[in-house]
Amino acid sequence: MKQTPLERFLRYVKIDTQSKDDSTTYPSTAKQLDLLNLLVTELQEIGARDAAIDSYGYVTATVPSNIPPAHPKYGKVPAVGFVAHVDTSPSASGANVKPQVIDPYTGGDLVLPGDPSVVIRESENPELKHNVGKPIVTSDGTTLLGADDKAGVAIIMTAAQTLLSDPALVHGDIRIAFTPDEEIGQGTKHFDIKKFGAAFAYTVDGDTPGELNKETFSANLAVITVYGRNIHPGSAKGIMVNSIRAMADIIARLPREISPEMTEGYEPYIHPHVLEGEEARTTLKILLRDFNTPGLEVLKKLIETVIAEVQPLHPRANIELKIIEQYRNMKDYMESASTGLDCMWEATKRAGMDPVWVPIRGGTDGSRLTEKGLPTPNIFTGGQNYHGTTEWLSVWGMSKAVDTVVHIARLWVEKS
Ligand SMILES: [Zn+2]
Repeated sequence: MKQTPLERFLRYVKIDTQSKDDSTTYPSTAKQLDLLNLLVTELQEIGARDAAIDSYGYVTATVPSNIPPAHPKYGKVPAVGFVAHVDTSPSASGANVKPQVIDPYTGGDLVLPGDPSVVIRESENPELKHNVGKPIVTSDGTTLLGADDKAGVAIIMTAAQTLLSDPALVHGDIRIAFTPDEEIGQGTKHFDIKKFGAAFAYTVDGDTPGELNKETFSANLAVITVYGRNIHPGSAKGIMVNSIRAMADIIARLPREISPEMTEGYEPYIHPHVLEGEEARTTLKILLRDFNTPGLEVLKKLIETVIAEVQPLHPRANIELKIIEQYRNMKDYMESASTGLDCMWEATKRAGMDPVWVPIRGGTDGSRLTEKGLPTPNIFTGGQNYHGTTEWLSVWGMSKAVDTVVHIARLWVEKS
């Protein structure tokens, strides 16, 4: 029985799959397995081959090549992967999601029924106007919706079923992966690229219809630790070294104009992110982000300059800086990947959209997969306002993404 992506989506969002920071297990929450296990069953039902879940919770399956032996491209088309994550963000509740299908959306602001203070405003959502007269999906306002990334899961499942059920759609081996823990930055931690066996992959985890991503930030974490000396404040004169005061001087000197709140597009930033401390010791975690990877060195130097200025003001404090590598711009590794990028661009056009490359001011699972050797750009899903209660989904955008995935599979045969 062929199911629409909307039917699949509404089923998946009702399953709570929120991931959790600082968990000691993998996946971080066992409830993600509820959906992952269901997907194994559904993949088997639609006739996918090798549908399985491994000990980490990764679900993989194959839509086998249907290129006939007499075809000139027989044996020449590489395996291509599609990847989506099942978990939802820890930033908003994902339990008891009650999706509302508004069909059709007739324009204007949307007050959500479960919490009238939650309003999806026309003025803040330019994409709404492209959905007038079409169905959209929201939560009831008390939870997030989960389009990030259950729309991606529904898109891949529907495209797989389409490819499996129509022999006229000629394609090579298509590999599918559904992953846990993307939202806590652990989505690819145990992902076995070799076993997955794809030469190129796509995450289906973007938002606005037509938008494609082949560039992400490169990211480092700077950790500043100030060591002071604590003693009872009643007898502290000439003895106490308050690390909090030294850290405050550092924070005050971090450049405002290259903060996330004052930058956009390709601009880099330095972002004080987590601050913890007491007299004896204060730590500050700072996110360093730049599309240009060598630019991270420049950001580091800026911090070193600030520390060099502050140190003499607090001669008895000890200030340390540590830089931890986080992820790299996938574009750094995309030079040899032009076929896969051409396919996604052309497929979006064939789906009736105007494609546009948009740089992601963040990282994706694809950033990490690309760095590890599997080029993995990102495709739109039709979702908007991720990680919050105003999240919503364009049903039209989701079906355009299904068409795009199907066209990508076919285009790899043309372009190989
Ligand atoms: Zn996502």
